[in-house]
Amino acid sequence: MNNPSGHRLSRPRRRAAVLGIVAALAASALVLALTWYWSSGLFLDQTRAGAMAKLDLYNSNLDGALGKYQSVPKLLALHEGVAAFFQAPLDAETLQRANALTETVNSLTGAEDTYFMDAEGLTFAASNWDSERPFVGHNFSYRPYFQEAMQGQLGRFFALGTTSGRRGYYFASPVFQNNEILGAVVVKVSLTDIEAAWTADEEKVIVTDPHGVIFVSSHAAWRFRSLAPLSDEALQEIAENRRYQSVDLRPLEVVEQQSIGEGPRLIRIADEPGAQKAEYLMVSRAMPEAGWTVSVLASTHLARSQSITATLVAALACLITFLIATLVWQRRSRLVERIDYQRRASEELEQRVEERTADLTSANAQLEREIGEREAAEAELRQAQDDLIQAGKLAALGQMSAALSHEFNQPLAAIRSYADNARLLIERNRDREAGENLQRIRDLTARMAEISKHLMTFARKPRRELRPLVLAEVLDDTLDFLRIRLERAGATVSLEQPDRSLRVRAGRVRLQHVILNLVSNALDAMEGAEEPKIEVAVRETAGRVVVSVRDHGPGIEAAQIGSIFDPFFTTKDVGKGLGLGLSISYNIVKDFEGSIRVENHPGGGAVFIVELPLLAQPEAVLEPA
Ligand code: ADP
Repeated sequence: MNNPSGHRLSRPRRRAAVLGIVAALAASALVLALTWYWSSGLFLDQTRAGAMAKLDLYNSNLDGALGKYQSVPKLLALHEGVAAFFQAPLDAETLQRANALTETVNSLTGAEDTYFMDAEGLTFAASNWDSERPFVGHNFSYRPYFQEAMQGQLGRFFALGTTSGRRGYYFASPVFQNNEILGAVVVKVSLTDIEAAWTADEEKVIVTDPHGVIFVSSHAAWRFRSLAPLSDEALQEIAENRRYQSVDLRPLEVVEQQSIGEGPRLIRIADEPGAQKAEYLMVSRAMPEAGWTVSVLASTHLARSQSITATLVAALACLITFLIATLVWQRRSRLVERIDYQRRASEELEQRVEERTADLTSANAQLEREIGEREAAEAELRQAQDDLIQAGKLAALGQMSAALSHEFNQPLAAIRSYADNARLLIERNRDREAGENLQRIRDLTARMAEISKHLMTFARKPRRELRPLVLAEVLDDTLDFLRIRLERAGATVSLEQPDRSLRVRAGRVRLQHVILNLVSNALDAMEGAEEPKIEVAVRETAGRVVVSVRDHGPGIEAAQIGSIFDPFFTTKDVGKGLGLGLSISYNIVKDFEGSIRVENHPGGGAVFIVELPLLAQPEAVLEPA
């Protein structure tokens, strides 16, 4: 059986623990995945909302910037004075005025360049006429804005200036005369300035052409980089309109992560191949008029770290939950094991009790059987003992018969002689003397009747039951019974009995038998002694009555002292003793819950000591003497 306080788990509990841990890990993984998914969605959505707001802002910013210049070339083209400059050929002075006009308009509008092109695409007047790289004299007929203007439309185009090397947005308006297009008025708007205002912003904002080439970017490293590798057609088109001159349009390394709903894209971009990529949420809006697309790229860094924090919090919660669950489980399992242990212990105990009960029951049955047998044996023994007492008594009677015959013969002889005497005295009319003799005869018969009564009492079978007896009376009766024998032996008996009221619970006849036996044995032991002397004493000690019978015989030999109470132990001649007297006395005293023992008196002779329980003094004597 396991110790309940031990930490070792039983095999099924260990299996349950492993299963629990696996389940907890799976549940935690699910919780973390869900938290990551949910928090990513939430925080990326916030990022997207911010990016959209910014996109609106940049859009209107660009719209406003371009819209401001859109009508400038139109207005100039409509002006008659301007149209006059397109009437070729022009003299130097007119050209000078045209240059001055462009310069003035340019400085008033804040455009980057304002210039006039003839029908061939040659620039004949420009606001930067006296700069290091004036447009004047350059032919820009390859530019789409010129071609659109020559078709009578407002030409729009954005490009890297071939002469200036600066990025700009071009608006070109045709100059009509009698439905004939003489040339175009062009205003170039600087994009560099707009871009410069963006760089401080957190988000990256880019303007891409239809091929995905970044033309304007708040992040300088992305300028003239394409979001995807360019196709051959695209490269050819770019070469034709010389939008980017000879700039090497290397693609950025863009990895598409996932699309979030409509429009927004989650991408990872590296500036250079192999460099570390940063993740962005990209929202875009096309500006069809301008021919470009504006995109805001918001870094997902914050959203991601928020998601990581949320996931970590969830992980911590999982861990705490797991720890609490483990703790609860451990406590519960320890409790379960303890209950289990107690149950098994009580079962074991019950089983043991059952076994013990069965053992006891069989032992009890055995004991009862034995008791039955013992009782039967005891009954048999008692019967035998009763028979023996009777036999002993008969033996005692036999022993006494001689004395009895003497006892009876003597008074009988005396009666006879008294009777003879009485007859003679009556014949002689001596009536008074005859009456005296008759009285003597009467006395003698009375004495004989007394002796006979004693014999009857002794010979009677004793009763079984015990009753309160006055010890003095029993002793008196017994000694009285023995009187003839004592007289014959010339023995004296002294009785020392300070308290004549002591009572014992016994059988009268049986107790008499014991005393009689002890006194008889004492007489036998002193046979032939000159003055046989027997001392009977009664004492009371510690709730017991002690009766001692001492003689002045030879005492008992040490070797025999242990077997003196054995049945049939005798040292007497055949016919004189059966060796039953003391054995029977021993059993009788035991029946009275008393004891009997023998000692040799230091002054010589044997002392037999009988101890009996003392009975409390009654109010009145129960049995009359
Ligand atoms: P029995 O008298 O028939 O021999 P008992 O049982 O009365 O049988 O006595 C057994 C023996 O104990 C006697 O034979 C005797 O040797 C011894 N004995 C008994 N009483 C005395 C005594 N008072 N003094 C010496 N020996 C005794």
